[in-house]
Amino acid sequence: MRDWDVIVVGGGPGGAACAGELVRRGLRVLVLDRAAFPRVKPCGGLVTQEAAAALGLREADYPHGWLWIDRFHFHWRGLRLAVPSPQISIRRVEFDRFLLERSGAEFVRHRVRQVTREGGRYVVDGRFRAEVVVGAGGTACPVHRSFFRDRTPRARGLQITALEAEFPCEPRERDCHFWFFEEGFPGYYWYIPKADGHVNVGVGALAEPLRRAQDGVWRHWQRCVEKLRRLGWLGDRVPEPDGHTYYLVDRPRAARRDGAYLVGDAAGLATRDLGEGIRAAIESGMRAAGAIADGGDYRLDDLPRTSWPALLRGLLRRRWWR
Ligand SMILES: Cc1cc2nc3c(=O)[nH]c(=O)nc-3n(C[C@H](O)[C@H](O)[C@H](O)COP(=O)(O)OP(=O)(O)OC[C@H]3O[C@@H](n4cnc5c(N)ncnc54)[C@H](O)[C@@H]3O)c2cc1C
Repeated sequence: MRDWDVIVVGGGPGGAACAGELVRRGLRVLVLDRAAFPRVKPCGGLVTQEAAAALGLREADYPHGWLWIDRFHFHWRGLRLAVPSPQISIRRVEFDRFLLERSGAEFVRHRVRQVTREGGRYVVDGRFRAEVVVGAGGTACPVHRSFFRDRTPRARGLQITALEAEFPCEPRERDCHFWFFEEGFPGYYWYIPKADGHVNVGVGALAEPLRRAQDGVWRHWQRCVEKLRRLGWLGDRVPEPDGHTYYLVDRPRAARRDGAYLVGDAAGLATRDLGEGIRAAIESGMRAAGAIADGGDYRLDDLPRTSWPALLRGLLRRRWWR
């Protein structure tokens, strides 16, 4: 059995941000992920300027597609509100690998099944051991399952279910479009352009009202694709979508127990309105690293619960992070 100072379970933005900061502070860090990177993660890939700034990541240093979005268009019942919104559109398949490699942490591909506490240390599947374990494994994070399920149960009413595809297709423009509450859908459809001739299309909604209405995301995925075809924004070739579920932010919950921490989706931190979780994953990852390295508090209760403040700030300050 090998020993590290910290084991991070999950190499998405939350895990990579945490690992990178820990390595920078001189700790020995192992990241475990069930996937080999690059890996596909269903996600619109809209990154706020705050998130890029927290990572110290600038466009000039990023070797992949980085597209500045000009505006968000919010559609509702035939009405349209266009809001200048300088967010960055990346592809998660590229972004996550980049962040993980940039972290400088040791990486082992391993699907974590069991995390136990033995003699004050955390042991993962009888193979890896550390003083501290960080759960960054998303919705079904095994660290959440082992140490937090009783204290931080998932709020079923805040579960989001989504279908999404990202594929080669020349974007029409540098704007994102969101259609809210189409045919009673308790969420929205989206169209997000990417650099390098790709687009991201998807539908996401609260799972419980959808179930109650005996409706399903699949029907809305088909409606969304038809709508975009009618607009002439998509051709015939649209791949099958990937599905995913995750949780919106609830009231502040325990995200630390002894030497075990939760970050990102494992802690359920995506914003209530747009379901954005990348920024919260990065921010919580950095905070967990700071608390581990300095022995300080780990607090998440002041993280933004909605995306509107960041949208408004972006509107006022335009592109402030380059
Ligand atoms: C369809 C969709 C669209 C979205 N669009 C946006 C958007 O545009 N902007 C935004 O800010 N947010 C968006 N989100 C939310 C965002 O994707 C998540 O909040 C974000 O990815 C959370 O990052 P994370 O690092 O916590 O988890 P993840 O990115 O999910 O990473 C978790 C990692 O843990 C690994 N893992 C899981 N289980 C195990 C295990 N047992 N053992 C080892 N490894 C494991 C996984 O392989 C994965 O690599 C979207 C989500 C969805 C589903």
